[in-house]
Amino acid sequence: MDTLRRQEFVKVVKDFTSMASIYLSDDVEAAIRDIAARENIPMARTMYDCILQDLSLAREMKRPICQDTGVIQYFADVGTGFPYLDDIGEVLRDAAVAATLETPLRPNVVEPLGEHNTGNNAGYGAPYIEYDLVPGSTDLRLRMYMAGGGCSLPGRSKVLMPLEGVKGIKDFVYRTIVDWGVNACPPLCIGIGLGTCAATSAMLSKKALLRPIGTHSEYPEVAKLEDELKEGLNSLGIAPLGFGGSNSVLSVNIEAAAHHPATLGVGITTGCWATRKGEIVIHKDLSYEIISHAHALENC
Ligand code: SF4
Repeated sequence: MDTLRRQEFVKVVKDFTSMASIYLSDDVEAAIRDIAARENIPMARTMYDCILQDLSLAREMKRPICQDTGVIQYFADVGTGFPYLDDIGEVLRDAAVAATLETPLRPNVVEPLGEHNTGNNAGYGAPYIEYDLVPGSTDLRLRMYMAGGGCSLPGRSKVLMPLEGVKGIKDFVYRTIVDWGVNACPPLCIGIGLGTCAATSAMLSKKALLRPIGTHSEYPEVAKLEDELKEGLNSLGIAPLGFGGSNSVLSVNIEAAAHHPATLGVGITTGCWATRKGEIVIHKDLSYEIISHAHALENC
């Protein structure tokens, strides 16, 4: 890849990363506005007024929505015909560093165990990059997530005995959110993964969190569980910001995979009201479309 192409590629990802720290994705903002409009409890209404004012100030000042801009994570669905496959890792790292300096983003990355802050949000294994190959495509579909501290705290993964079934899944989710959810600045986006082991369930839960709000699992039983959990979690009365209110979650998305008959893995990933995520499709000529923020960008 020649130098000019590389600079162009870095700039596209840098601007996309920076944008997602300043503007909520269309689905998250619409979900917040929806539950704010339906809230009747005075303290909760005050909290939503603060959140909406924060969104408008971030937009006006071109500054991140929250001081904790997280640890940057990229999920790259790479077409096998995308011409810059070998360069993606370095480009994403350079883009994360450039976005950190220019936006600016808070430098959060500390090296493993030594806890030395690298000062630029890059480090050993950071930004985190997960690759999936897409046969027959020449595009790079890139999803980005900013994993904040508080919203990452409730994350859990556990392997249940299979006979625990739906009741076991619900108990695990409710206990986790009751004990830890308030740390994650509710109302929450909840991603749940169902699989065989702790690792696959955890990764599926992150993919569930990244799925747009309002979409459902294509498996009817799983889609039904999404609705039941959302109703149950909303009845807890935690939100917003833990001051009590009519709704505690913005979404419950579940990604499920067929599993071993002797195990039922459940993973939970939580996102806060300021869930910063984005999705962009970059073509082989480096032209691109931002999928997640079409409405936000129209109004900026
Ligand atoms: S949980 Fe979210 S809104 Fe709260 S401090 Fe962390 S990143 Fe910010």
